[in-house]
Amino acid sequence: MSAGRELASWAARAERTRGRRVAEPPPVHRSEYQRDRDRIVHSTAFRRLMYKTQVFVNHDGDMYRTRLTHSLEVAQVGRTVARALGLDEDLTEAISIAHDLGHTPFGHAGQDALNACMREHGGFEHNLQSLRVVDELEERYAGFNGLNLTFEAREGILKHCSAANARQLGALGERFLARTQPGLEAQLANLADGIAYNNHDVDDGLRSGLISVEQLATVAAFRRNWSATAAAHPGLASRRAVHETVRRMIGELVGDLIEESARRIAAAGVVTIDDVRALHEPLVGFSAERQAEVVELKRFLRQELYQHERVRSMTAMAQRVVSDLFQAWRATPSLLPPDHAEAVTRAAAADGASGEARAVADYLAGMTDRFALAEHARLFGATDWPQSGGAGLPSIPT
Ligand code: MG
Repeated sequence: MSAGRELASWAARAERTRGRRVAEPPPVHRSEYQRDRDRIVHSTAFRRLMYKTQVFVNHDGDMYRTRLTHSLEVAQVGRTVARALGLDEDLTEAISIAHDLGHTPFGHAGQDALNACMREHGGFEHNLQSLRVVDELEERYAGFNGLNLTFEAREGILKHCSAANARQLGALGERFLARTQPGLEAQLANLADGIAYNNHDVDDGLRSGLISVEQLATVAAFRRNWSATAAAHPGLASRRAVHETVRRMIGELVGDLIEESARRIAAAGVVTIDDVRALHEPLVGFSAERQAEVVELKRFLRQELYQHERVRSMTAMAQRVVSDLFQAWRATPSLLPPDHAEAVTRAAAADGASGEARAVADYLAGMTDRFALAEHARLFGATDWPQSGGAGLPSIPT
């Protein structure tokens, strides 16, 4: 809901939500989507995002993004676009701050390691895990497991899903089988995620010294905005010039996203969210020209930053920490804290080895980077891990 502002007819309507899994009385002073957002803010998983890796391991330095600050940046971009397009800002924000709740410690390296551990038990996928956190794993309410969010928030959190998993998710899985779309707030949060991480990874990458302005000058969007900054502000200190350039890059993408999405919405002639959901292509998107630049920037970051040898050294560490802990707890569940040991026993009784493995994966996925490292040290003794990224690296000159 956006108090005092008209929502577009194709926006999600809190008063017409497809509802919660467990029926609850409507909120008195908030909309249904505000309640979703508030429940996420109060969740344990949300607080833990503060100590989870985005690209640089959380203990590398205080200046880098973590999953928490990343999620807040996604929400900022999302709300701006939502307001401009007449979409529900609170729902957009709820999806934005919940989208990474299921992320393991150590970023994608941690997810890949846990996925390998779970290979024979259905695998592990952080996006599906985010839904599991809000549907099952949070234990904060007397009347239900999880946060009991609205269908629209859950629809937005589940960005992608295999056909096999979709078949087990009921109404939420239907669109993956029918190849249709979620509501516009969900489409938007997905793209806001990309705008946030591409641009903050440029900033963090430069700060770490792992990539340089000279390298980034091969990327059209960076080159254009760096030059424009230099022309408008000759002699600007380079740290500030980087921030100004990144600010301009985000501004360009947000502007393009608003204009192109408005154009597509008008051209499609949709009236309600159900019209949006029936389509086979998303309506929220960049112009072709901007999309090509986004792809170019993503490719640059993958090659030069995410696969930088000092970032990849984290992969080896994450694999060892995650798989050592997983094997240890599978072999001896009594090494877990009592309530998690009980959860593993219950899951084993209900679903056998796969249930047991899933309960261990849930516990591991919920950990912060530093807690996983501390648990590893407790069970396996101190290890001299290599530095993954930023610590001790030169920061960019000012
Ligand atoms: Mg994200």
